[in-house]
Amino acid sequence: MNKSLEFISVIEACGLINLGYTGLPYTWCNQRNAHARVWKRLDRSMVNDKWLETMPQTAIEHLHLWALITVLCYGKCLNSSTIAHFLINGKWNERKLRQQVPPLLIPHILSTSFQHQQGLKDTAIWKPTEAGNFSCVSAREICRHRKDTTGINSQLWNKNIPFKMSFLLWRALRNKLPTNENLANFGVEPVKCFCCINQGWDDVYHIFNEGHFAAHIWNYFTGPMGVNFLQPSLTSRLLNLGEIQGKNEAHKTLIQALPIVICWNLWKNRCSVKYGDKKPNSSRVKYMVLKGILFHLNSAFPYIQWPLKWIEVFDMIEKCKHDVKVTPIIWKTTPTNRYKLNTDDSALHNPGKIGRRGILRNEVGDIIYAFAIPLGEGTNNHAEIQDASYGLN
Ligand SMILES: [Zn+2]
Repeated sequence: MNKSLEFISVIEACGLINLGYTGLPYTWCNQRNAHARVWKRLDRSMVNDKWLETMPQTAIEHLHLWALITVLCYGKCLNSSTIAHFLINGKWNERKLRQQVPPLLIPHILSTSFQHQQGLKDTAIWKPTEAGNFSCVSAREICRHRKDTTGINSQLWNKNIPFKMSFLLWRALRNKLPTNENLANFGVEPVKCFCCINQGWDDVYHIFNEGHFAAHIWNYFTGPMGVNFLQPSLTSRLLNLGEIQGKNEAHKTLIQALPIVICWNLWKNRCSVKYGDKKPNSSRVKYMVLKGILFHLNSAFPYIQWPLKWIEVFDMIEKCKHDVKVTPIIWKTTPTNRYKLNTDDSALHNPGKIGRRGILRNEVGDIIYAFAIPLGEGTNNHAEIQDASYGLN
């Protein structure tokens, strides 16, 4: 604080004015991944009255890192200067750079090494790509700050799992749920949990991981998978599950869906006790988790008859094998000047949404016409007839 005050008094004594800036709000980044990234404005530009008298149009603009490519290669800002213009004996001429290039860019330029070849024209390159070529796609990749898709993030999202369930786990991992602990910031009193006899506090750690109730549910479902029911955090539960090698697609789906469904039901149990008139009940939660798991397995693998007990589901799923059946199909050619129409129907349910499709081919098998058209509601027989009549017409 003392140092700041001294600094401010020096600024005032020298009559310095902060010029402000235009362009990007930050001038420095720690270059770490999205969760640990820090952006800051480190640079300030101050001048005195004399400066402003001689150069009244001084303005500060924060340029982005790749602006250096624009500045040096296109040279629009620098009266068509080329790279060679800023070199001396194959090295950067710092003095010349300082005359013409914005100070913010100079450290980046000086740390950029390259082989200068005489007679070659300057071309723009985009350093971060492996191939070394500039591309708009690579620029966009850098700007968009794509979310980390490895580790826990990859375990959260799956097309067969409803978004609301994945999102709940996402919030639980970040402690962004309206527990009483979090509501305390708004003046709500902390309360004991709504799940256990040996009560803990109503916070994310207790509800989803540490509480007696949560540990019991985790143990019931993940115990047979070899995961210790005592874990230091929800994150470590996910990491432990993520380390299990899925033996087949169904097993992988189960490993991914299980923690999401468990957390969803732990939260539902907590809320139905807090806001409804229910009592905490581990049998109900176990039943609901199993029902949720079976729902996901059925929607992903509708042709498998899953048992209704957890231990049987678990036993069966590890033994599932991918069955590959090969059926040879031979397309018989037609006599010359004849065409052949192959049709098939599709029905989501019977009766249900139906559609028709077909291919018309000539005697050598070239496709003359093909179609795939939805037919609305109906039966599969209805669709078959429609296929043929449409194809013939
Ligand atoms: Zn509890």
